[in-house]
Amino acid sequence: MGGHNPGIKLLDKDGKRIDGRGLYDLRPIKMEIGVLKKADGSAYLEWGGNKVMAAVYGPKPVMPRHLANPYKAVLMYRYNMAPFSVDDRKRPGPDRRSIEISKISRDALERIVMTEYFPNTMIEIFVEILQADAGTRCAALTAASLALADAGIPMRDLVAACAAGKIDGKVALDLKKEEDNYGESDMPLAISPRTGDILLFQMDGLLTKEEYLESLHLALEGAKKVSEMQKKALKDKYKIETLGGEDDKV
Ligand code: ADP
Repeated sequence: MGGHNPGIKLLDKDGKRIDGRGLYDLRPIKMEIGVLKKADGSAYLEWGGNKVMAAVYGPKPVMPRHLANPYKAVLMYRYNMAPFSVDDRKRPGPDRRSIEISKISRDALERIVMTEYFPNTMIEIFVEILQADAGTRCAALTAASLALADAGIPMRDLVAACAAGKIDGKVALDLKKEEDNYGESDMPLAISPRTGDILLFQMDGLLTKEEYLESLHLALEGAKKVSEMQKKALKDKYKIETLGGEDDKV
């Protein structure tokens, strides 16, 4: 991010991006809900080259027990990148980056999940990045929110996330890996679409004030589109189940 750009052009002469997108286009997104039978809730998300699986357990007894809160459920969020998710094998297990992403994602969901309904319990959210192509923290939170809904956990809203940034001097929506690596800035955010509250906000690189405002606006609009897709995915899933469709989960 914001690093040395070794002569790599991210926009062609027509202003198209390396994957053919315009500046304000999202990558293709596919959402599937209730894909794992052993978890209480789950969702699988493809977002461009990102492939993400989210699973939710709970509300369940708190382990270790001394972490229990008599006023609300304890939320646990684990973001993990599979060793095979990136070009070179990634060393398995948590690292600084995944611990940070887990923390800020948990903090975002804490504002949305109605933890006060389930004192002395815990809700565990696991997100596995199976394939990474930038924007994985946004994809992970978007999938986690669907998995929480699938688990029937009461929430104030569905969290939707999206990033915007700057490539070859232009503000652009939803950067992919090369754009994130060789671009000038990246700004992931997550929102509660119902209230417009920003639940997660980060920024790498440099932007002018105008670019910052444009990027913020673009990411917000992107997250709203993601939110519409989430609602549609949930409605489609519900329709299949009421028609006695493929899902035999009890
Ligand atoms: P995000 O995935 O949320 O955009 P970053 O900006 O930290 O988070 O990472 C951008 C991309 O860089 C990731 O999606 C992934 O493709 C790649 N990446 C991150 N960490 C590693 C790593 N340890 N090894 C190889 N590639 C990585």
